[in-house]
Amino acid sequence: AFLARERQSFAERNPASAALAAQASEHLLFGVPLHWMNDWGTPFALHVCQANGAQVTDVDGHTLVDFCLGDTGAMFGHAPAPVAAALVKQAMRGYTTMLATADAAAVGALLAERFGLPFWQFAMSATDANRYIVRWIRAATGRKKLLVFNGCYHGTIEDVFVDLVNGQPVQRDSLLGQVYDLTEHTVVVEFNDLPALDAALQQGDVACVLAEPVMTNIGMVLPEPGFWGEAQALIKKHGALLVMDETHTISTGPGGYARAHGIEADALVLGKPVGGGVPCAVYGMSADLAARAVQAKQDAPPGHSGIGTTLTGNMLAMAAMRATLAEVMAPAAYAHMLSLAERLAGGLRGLIARHSLPWCVTQVGARTEFQFCSAPPRNGSEAEAVLDPELEHLIHLALLNRGVMITPFHNMMLVCPQTTDDDVGQLLRALDEVLSQITLTA
Ligand code: PLP
Repeated sequence: AFLARERQSFAERNPASAALAAQASEHLLFGVPLHWMNDWGTPFALHVCQANGAQVTDVDGHTLVDFCLGDTGAMFGHAPAPVAAALVKQAMRGYTTMLATADAAAVGALLAERFGLPFWQFAMSATDANRYIVRWIRAATGRKKLLVFNGCYHGTIEDVFVDLVNGQPVQRDSLLGQVYDLTEHTVVVEFNDLPALDAALQQGDVACVLAEPVMTNIGMVLPEPGFWGEAQALIKKHGALLVMDETHTISTGPGGYARAHGIEADALVLGKPVGGGVPCAVYGMSADLAARAVQAKQDAPPGHSGIGTTLTGNMLAMAAMRATLAEVMAPAAYAHMLSLAERLAGGLRGLIARHSLPWCVTQVGARTEFQFCSAPPRNGSEAEAVLDPELEHLIHLALLNRGVMITPFHNMMLVCPQTTDDDVGQLLRALDEVLSQITLTA
């Protein structure tokens, strides 16, 4: 009954979105840009016309407080002023030349200083950056296998669409159009399982481990104390390399999670937020890996390396990244985000206790989630077992009707430099009301 009421209220609140959804469905396959705000719990897709700071405005004129922030793409707020200014300036001076710019050189230096790896390259998305770094490492090491953790997500790089089912790697059957067997070269183990990691590496031929330092894409899963220290030692012992995908965990602090926790990755991947929300991504390499990559390129016959695309390094992306790194990702912005995220996590714990729910809250950097289990999951299988998409969608829908947007999958809430204490208060009040309704109806 609560769901039906919320769906009806959404439909009454959003007639202009309904009309656009009907129009879009005539010519857009599925009616929306795929992978974007689909009808996750809503009867039709919400259409927006503007996004600034921590707010989005929908086409029916509602202003929503945004804790989804483009699933991290807008980690530093929508249209941050320095990025908007850099884009406007660059927009009058060209976009794509396939020639180098001063901005590109400046971005390389800013990345090296901030993240501690000496060599960097560009990509158009985190997916591409992951694909390229794995390709570089396979070429540099002469090894074929990729090791990932069960339940991971690193974009749509095919290699990672392999799950652990009853201890065996199984290609995810939702992957469309896959014509060769991914399990041949992808090894999967559970997060936080050092003996399994050791055994998998022992099999040999593992070029690299591709991981998030904290799993964030199946609900959050934290590394157990000491996990990364020991994992790094094992990876090194077996001659493999460690790639940290910090696309989401970059919200931990100015140098990302790995740097803050003393994890020495051989390569880093940073996507989405590094250009302030403009399409671009980067990957970085240690000096040793870079030297081996250069050697591999020199040894290869001339021709396309399979790395890089026409728009990679385009002038708009370079200008946006320079502004983001130099002016937006500032220590003060992080300090604000972290203290607000802690307040949000504390408020959520209070709500969960008050409603006597068997749920827990995990917060890493600016990212906070509540999960439908009383103790935090230790690995991908445990995290998957407690996912409840229907409940997630219901909460998302009910919050939208109350002027607040969170991520519609695994209850993720991100704060940005423009999020205020009042915004957090509004979220907590709205969620309190929604939880009262849900527990009453349950
Ligand atoms: N890596 C991680 C850890 C991600 O969470 C994502 C997307 O959510 C990606 C890579 C892929 O990013 P994109 O979709 O921008 O290619």
